Amino acid sequence: MRMIFCLGMLLLSPLLAIEWDDTIVVCPNCKAANNFKKASFGQHSLDQMYYGPSKFHYVFWPHTDKESLYSCLDCGLTLFMMDFYNISQEKLPEIRKILKDIPLPAGYRNYVDIPMYLKLSSAEKIYQTLGKSDELWGEFYRIFAYHLERDSQLAKKKVQEEKTKLDKKEKHSNSHSPALLTFSSLFRPLSKYLLADNALGSMRQAKAQSWKEENDFLKQEAEKNCKRALEQAQKMIADARYTTTRKELLFIAGAMQYHLKNPLKAEENFQKALSLQYSNPIYMNEAQAQGHNQYLNELLNEFLKKIKE
Ligand SMILES: [Zn+2]
Repeated sequence: MRMIFCLGMLLLSPLLAIEWDDTIVVCPNCKAANNFKKASFGQHSLDQMYYGPSKFHYVFWPHTDKESLYSCLDCGLTLFMMDFYNISQEKLPEIRKILKDIPLPAGYRNYVDIPMYLKLSSAEKIYQTLGKSDELWGEFYRIFAYHLERDSQLAKKKVQEEKTKLDKKEKHSNSHSPALLTFSSLFRPLSKYLLADNALGSMRQAKAQSWKEENDFLKQEAEKNCKRALEQAQKMIADARYTTTRKELLFIAGAMQYHLKNPLKAEENFQKALSLQYSNPIYMNEAQAQGHNQYLNELLNEFLKKIKE
């Protein structure tokens, strides 16, 4: 449980911080030099990292940032930062076969600008070759859902922005007197301006429509990934090997139910989780596990409050 181990350590650290600096990374597959970002310590507080909105997807930095998902602009190899550095050479021939079937996102000069949906879809295919444990797949799907949900919210905001511009334009058009419009048609430059203005209106309508379609698509895909994360969590809850970390798994299952708009099922999972004590003898000492247990209780109570709102 790599992520959980890190989280346990971080919760006991007084200060950790996040920043992204420029770096050049040679692709382990095609040897192209890529301009990527590397994580470094700065002056951000622990609160920002573990008490930000991503906690409701149980997703944490660096996975909350687009910079953490590297994607070679030459061959399309797409993996999270550490996996990109540590990929086994033996796996490369198999990965090359997969890369042939993954279309390279065209027209991007910066890997951060490639939509997360495209990058995560590519990464998923590559990770299927590399293999991941149940908990890491669960984490992957939560990261997938988190980014798509966030991008769908941005698309929704764009729909609203375009609609507001259209409304303003309509109000403005209605304020024109018919006399002015007739008059304006006699003057080519002004008439041209009005034509352009109408074209702009249609363009905004088209833009609003396209943002709406993007929002719908991303929402649907986010939901799909929430369901996959939920299935992983449920599978692990039923597995006796994960008894000591069941509290965390119940939290995750409840969180996914919440995002899937099943508040009653979410609450049921959260209440069960609250009654359990977290421990993780392989990766955490007693104090770390106690800290993590406390953190989970805080999240559970916060989520329960959210449901009642
Ligand atoms: Zn490459």
